[in-house]
Amino acid sequence: MSARAKKSHAALSDIGRVRSHNEDAVLASPPLFAVADGLGGHEAGEVASSIAIETLRDHAPRRADAAALGRAVKAANREVIRAAKEGVGREGMGTTITAAIVEGTRVVVAQVGDSRAYLLHGGTLSRVTQDHSMVADMIRGGQLTEAEARVHPHRSVITRALGTDPNMATDTFEIEADAGDRLLLCSDGLTGMLTDERITEILGGYRDPMTVANELVTAANDAGGQDNISVVIVDLEDGAGATRGPRESERSLRGLIAVVGWLVVAALILAGIGYGAYTYAESRAYLVEEAGVVTVYRGVPGRLGPVSLSWLVERTRVRVEDLEPGDQRRLAEGWEFDTVEAALSAAGSLASDAGTAPVETTTTPNP
Ligand code: MN
Repeated sequence: MSARAKKSHAALSDIGRVRSHNEDAVLASPPLFAVADGLGGHEAGEVASSIAIETLRDHAPRRADAAALGRAVKAANREVIRAAKEGVGREGMGTTITAAIVEGTRVVVAQVGDSRAYLLHGGTLSRVTQDHSMVADMIRGGQLTEAEARVHPHRSVITRALGTDPNMATDTFEIEADAGDRLLLCSDGLTGMLTDERITEILGGYRDPMTVANELVTAANDAGGQDNISVVIVDLEDGAGATRGPRESERSLRGLIAVVGWLVVAALILAGIGYGAYTYAESRAYLVEEAGVVTVYRGVPGRLGPVSLSWLVERTRVRVEDLEPGDQRRLAEGWEFDTVEAALSAAGSLASDAGTAPVETTTTPNP
């Protein structure tokens, strides 16, 4: 047991300055620490994040075992899905989770969603996790910078969450850190408001973890506080209070982050953009000119990175050249509607404008 004259960890969750609920949940119960950011609105997010945290607490290992922690996250996923089915919270509710087990200077992390883990080592901050989010995919694809991502309209669309997919994959990481390193877990209400540079300054700026937690939350609120803000700080100490020999930091790869169960990035890319964007796109529809005729698609026009989120619904016989110039212009760019029904009914009116008999159908099954 390490002597605990001073507190070696702190956790804090704040509603922020805009939201009416705090849907985040945090846990600091050594050796287990976690942050969860609930989604679903109407208080369902709070239900999802607290079910996830409670299940994690019940299933997490007591040792820094990455695979076992990953299994605990999967158990939490099943519980959120089950609760929604049983009418607790709402159908479609979900949550992110980023959890860590800290055993001396050995840390394992399991993550789903866009809540992050960072390690501060000798004044340098490294990101342990990679966000499962649409903007993170776009940054990796070179289409967006970090700064642009912070203000992107779809910045909160995540591509993986607990609560939707029974086969959800969990990313796990193993870290061999040094005594004196500091671990941060946080929700996107922090990272959406503060740059990594600012986070580094604050993390390294105070000795007491609770002071750091307070300063981080205050800074995010000062920057706008647009979302719930949650932080967990853990100071890493040598296991049994043993003093280490000569500092090993020269030899140790800095912040040495070994990626263990990393579900192959390629699989992610193949899976395309995933849950968040997918559900959004799936609910939308648009009309576009193709081969001279009005064509109805479910989805959104254009591409998101390598991925196109649209599915052919109907190719009508309405010839675009028979339509008004204004309509032709809209069709050239992809004329968007909130639902497939709305798009179909608009196609129907275009058919009567053009004096064409209504539609012949080549249909694709619903995605
Ligand atoms: Mn959030």
